[in-house]
Amino acid sequence: LVRARNVHKSFGDNEVLKGIDLDVMPGEVVVVLGPSGSGKSTFLRCINHLEAIDRGYIEVDNEQVGYQLRRGRLHKLSDRAIAVQRRKIGMVFQQFNLYPHMTALENIIEAPVGVHGQNRKQAVAYAMELLTRIGLADKANAYPRQLSGGQQQRVAIARALAIRPKLMLFDEPTSALDPELVGEVLATMRDLAQQGLTMIVVTHEIGFAREAADRVVFMDGGVVVEEGKPEAVLANPTHPRTRLFLSRFI
Ligand code: ATP
Ligand code: MG
Repeated sequence: LVRARNVHKSFGDNEVLKGIDLDVMPGEVVVVLGPSGSGKSTFLRCINHLEAIDRGYIEVDNEQVGYQLRRGRLHKLSDRAIAVQRRKIGMVFQQFNLYPHMTALENIIEAPVGVHGQNRKQAVAYAMELLTRIGLADKANAYPRQLSGGQQQRVAIARALAIRPKLMLFDEPTSALDPELVGEVLATMRDLAQQGLTMIVVTHEIGFAREAADRVVFMDGGVVVEEGKPEAVLANPTHPRTRLFLSRFI
């Protein structure tokens, strides 16, 4: 579903991504680990074309993100075409950023109805289905300030799912939460993983990686240093930088 090749990205003189290669199969859950500043967030943002890459390419669902190949040349897609591509990709951030003046339900239907012009009744029905899936059907009419951080983040996940994305990107979805609220958000993500959603998850939750990931990718210095099955990478890292990173969690 995702194919990234030789992805380079610089901010000024700062080369943040130095040739990332990554494939993600449909239904696969890939957890990305790595030290602060290694380029994990930047890479996720590139997949969604929130950042344009400088070199290489990223394909999602067989389409090159942000560009189109015509007569052997790459052409930049229009904003409208990029918006269409983004509908395939849901993203959840560290900061949930729900609209404070909208209820949980209104937050969830905002993109399908407000942006994509979907039928409101259908969007509400699907939003209720999503709220039920995350165990918050009784909070449909609650405002974000009436919800705990964990509940808000679960609503943010439902909001991302509301456009029926093929791919979900998570950027440290639990790191802004109080420790006692982390578990419920990870449980929601584990359910989604089990339901076959394709996910790329940047997290420091090693337990989640061990239990839910099909593959763990370790990034450092803008490259993929090591990747493999969680059992292998987490228990027996071969690269010294992976070892050093993981030693901090033991
Ligand atoms: P963390 O674990 O702290 O979230 P990360 O692996 O997600 O780190 P990035 O956020 O991708 O790392 O940042 C990698 C580097 O890119 C950092 O040096 C950062 O300062 C730089 N950077 C990221 N976004 C921008 C931007 N919009 N403009 C300039 N520099 C940026
Ligand atoms: Mg980050």
